[in-house]
Amino acid sequence: MLAALVTAESPSENALLMEQALSVTARLGAALLGLEPERVQTQDRMALRWRFGTPRILLLAHLDTVWPEGTIERWPFAIEGTRATGPGVFDMKGGLVQGLFAIAELPDRSGIELLVTTDEEIGSPYSKDLVQASAKATAATLVLEPSLDGALKTARKGAGEYVVTIRGRSAHAGLDPDSGVNATSELAHQVQAIDRLSDVAVGTRVIPTCVRSGEVSNQIPALATISVDVRAEDDAELRRVDSGMRGLEAVVPGATISVTGGIMCSPMGGPGPQSLFRVAAATWAELGLGALASASAGGTSDANHASAVGVPTLDGLGAVGGNAHAEGEWLDLDAMPERAALLAGMVSALRDDRRSRSGD
Ligand SMILES: [Zn+2]
Repeated sequence: MLAALVTAESPSENALLMEQALSVTARLGAALLGLEPERVQTQDRMALRWRFGTPRILLLAHLDTVWPEGTIERWPFAIEGTRATGPGVFDMKGGLVQGLFAIAELPDRSGIELLVTTDEEIGSPYSKDLVQASAKATAATLVLEPSLDGALKTARKGAGEYVVTIRGRSAHAGLDPDSGVNATSELAHQVQAIDRLSDVAVGTRVIPTCVRSGEVSNQIPALATISVDVRAEDDAELRRVDSGMRGLEAVVPGATISVTGGIMCSPMGGPGPQSLFRVAAATWAELGLGALASASAGGTSDANHASAVGVPTLDGLGAVGGNAHAEGEWLDLDAMPERAALLAGMVSALRDDRRSRSGD
């Protein structure tokens, strides 16, 4: 199943390939679970959903990968020893396989929903509402993103994205420099002002990334842009940076600044993930597998969206491996059965806990 899913390429923005990958996933999942998934339309996108009774526990996966069409030709799925490699094997087709097998292992599947979206790697612009509505209807959301060297993810930073556009006035650099307003000079001031919005002591990074300015080398440039990536551990910091970004002021006389973008997603953290992690650690110990670690992650995932609606969310329940989003990503095949068992055990424990509490 892992080989088939990895071989069915699924870049986020390729509708044709995604449709084929959805079909492969639906067919293999239906054969394993004995149930066809629902196809859920979410804006222009399709998601797959397996529901068993009224959902109490949401398993969340995404099918898309960061790898463009054709990657599979130069880097096909392969197994070497206990490692499998291939585009998307770790993030997160391995986790999806584990999720399907975890459900298949359960004698009682009632109360489980598995949702498979197709736009996580581009920030879930189409499926964010679906993810949030699905999470909100359940008591816990378990996200099948890769682990961090085996550790589950109990916290994720929140994120923001901005583009700063600087407008000056073009002029001939030799003949008439004084009538120009240099957007590149203004850009240099703004890059430093943006840097100063970081507060590393509290985990806030405000990072100027791509810059563009000017057209030709003998002209005072009239237009410049700066892309900015923001990461922070709490909402207050995201808001502080947001108002700082919107308050950027031009230094070069005559230059103007406009800022687009904003806060993309809230951090995941707090007591919800910790209580779920305790269930995970207990399940892991019951399986005789020793101690389980937890970690916080700088990157964002759909776990941020699920946790933003107040539902306890735990992430990193997917594959054990390495090199996510990088050439040579791989997963540990030996870890797949025990990770699937962890998931199955957690789902049972959480669902039964909810049952005893609600008395049904
Ligand atoms: Zn992922």
